[in-house]
Amino acid sequence: MTIASLIESDRKHLIHPVVNYRAHEARGATILESGHGVWLRDASGNELLDAFAGLWCVNTGYGQESIVRVAAEQMARLPYATGYFHFSSAPAIELAEQLVALSPASLQRVYFSLGGSDAIDSAVRFITHYYNATGRASKKHIIALERGYHGSSSSGSGLTALASFHRNFDVPLATQHHIASPYPYRSETPDDAQAIIGRSIAALEEKVTALGAENVAAFFCEPIQGSGGVIVPPQGWLKAMRDACHRLDILFVADEVITGFGRTGPMFACEAERVEPDLMTVAKGLTAGYAPMGAVLMSDRIYQALADSGNRSDPIGHGQTYSAHPVSAAIALEVLRLYREGGLIDNGVVQGRHFAAGLDSLLDHPLVGDSRHRGLLGAVELVADKQKRTRFDPSLDLSNRIFAAAYRNKIIFRAFGDNILGFAPALCITESEMQQMIKRVRKTLDDVLADEDVRAAVRSAEKTAA
Ligand code: PLP
Repeated sequence: MTIASLIESDRKHLIHPVVNYRAHEARGATILESGHGVWLRDASGNELLDAFAGLWCVNTGYGQESIVRVAAEQMARLPYATGYFHFSSAPAIELAEQLVALSPASLQRVYFSLGGSDAIDSAVRFITHYYNATGRASKKHIIALERGYHGSSSSGSGLTALASFHRNFDVPLATQHHIASPYPYRSETPDDAQAIIGRSIAALEEKVTALGAENVAAFFCEPIQGSGGVIVPPQGWLKAMRDACHRLDILFVADEVITGFGRTGPMFACEAERVEPDLMTVAKGLTAGYAPMGAVLMSDRIYQALADSGNRSDPIGHGQTYSAHPVSAAIALEVLRLYREGGLIDNGVVQGRHFAAGLDSLLDHPLVGDSRHRGLLGAVELVADKQKRTRFDPSLDLSNRIFAAAYRNKIIFRAFGDNILGFAPALCITESEMQQMIKRVRKTLDDVLADEDVRAAVRSAEKTAA
């Protein structure tokens, strides 16, 4: 098929995730063809620096031959093994064992899903089962954060706190609640970590008190909120929230779908603050996007309660055909090897320093109000008025314009609707690639600022401030 006919066929038949369908039909798809390291090539031959690791998932970079090799070997040997009827496969068992060894000590058991959304959905089902089985059936309410993202399943989409995931989908459910996000740049006290942490704890306590602790099952959070705009809470926030959940007798669920596997420096973000969650969800970097897979890790306490529920003849009715898929598991084992023995986690830590310095260097640009980062996860937030932190008028459609300008400059990153630019390069990035990345971002910002309407928006904000 020619590129034009592929685009036409895509328009006619392929439904894309999280786009406006009419806008996609009008625009047409951009077809990607191949990748190597942090580089992507599109069907027109453009070589693009992927500063977003696909969808914050290709942490190893593209074209890792050893991953391709183990996948092919596993496919040839045993392309599928069901986990039903007590069957298992060596890669799945080894992977579960390694994940337990690498994750916080509280987590002892692993259920494999196909990605992040169904890992969240599984976590919700396990929690419901757990409280029903242990005689606390009233504990049904779940609290999460504003601007949080917990995927797109019929239950997880209500824990997600992004408007487009709620509109016309009849969520959040009556049992799903949100408290304010720990968002330093948009808080009254951006530099006062203790005040930000204190407000989050107070909000959680208030919500639990209002609902009644006997009715609250769990608190879900991302250690760093990704899709909500890379919101980096102060150090100590995660631990403080974990401890608060303990005091309030509710389960603490860390959603490490983005932050896991070296993205923020250590293997898991929980590790940096010695946080031991009751449950943890992972996906993305688990297989680095080379095949679909996610997981829910759970404490032995929860597992034992599930295992003791019902009669010996009652199965726990939770499963999927592709749970613990042997090819995905074999890939994940090789990906974990690359992170550790292959030096990717170490490189991520080193490059994380250049990344931080690079993003911070953009603060002198007239459009950039904030720079925030941890490890190789970061963002800059664009504002019309730096002093007042004023957002741009949505009618400027700045995010689409920035994405298009970035593409012309041969760089891909995430341009969120409220003009936050998100970055999550692969852990294999080199120092010179990092420099190119920052240079191309700056050039993109300059190009956008060259537009008269953008300059006028900045000028008019300056005038209001004066
Ligand atoms: N949880 C978090 C924190 C995520 O960022 C995502 C996806 O971006 C998900 C869950 C959902 O994962 P998936 O898209 O694999 O279903």
